[in-house]
Amino acid sequence: MSEPKEYLSLDIPVNCSECGGRMIYKGVGEYACELCGALAYDDYGKVRNYIEQHPGATQSDVSAATGVSKAKIRQLLIEERIEVTPDSPIFMHCALCGADIRSGMYCSACATKVKQDEIHVAKVVREKQRKMGYASDYGKDAKGRRRFERQ
Ligand SMILES: [Zn+2]
Ligand SMILES: [Zn+2]
Repeated sequence: MSEPKEYLSLDIPVNCSECGGRMIYKGVGEYACELCGALAYDDYGKVRNYIEQHPGATQSDVSAATGVSKAKIRQLLIEERIEVTPDSPIFMHCALCGADIRSGMYCSACATKVKQDEIHVAKVVREKQRKMGYASDYGKDAKGRRRFERQ
């Protein structure tokens, strides 16, 4: 289980509210006190638990119940760290077509399209390099240097 990402401030519990002991990360946003075993959750754990227990909750409900800001809940959804059920009133919109999605940035149709575009762009770039005459043996790290080596 990876540690929570640092740039997204998750309000991580550091000391036990019961005894002041150190909190140890257990995974999926859950922490346990190393002395008394009391459990605590970071913002991710709170949101995740609440959504699991209240599948019909709206984003405002989740925010009000957990104290986690809607912006942060949204960020967790975009990073696909939490996912809502298909019938949940919490939904995201595809960045391209605006369709309702459950997590991430794009709906599955647009995700496929974006991937194809990336492949297409890579192809165009390769083609361009070939025309410029220094990618015949397309070295992964040699493309910049080769231009200078050839007189
Ligand atoms: Zn404790
Ligand atoms: Zn879409």
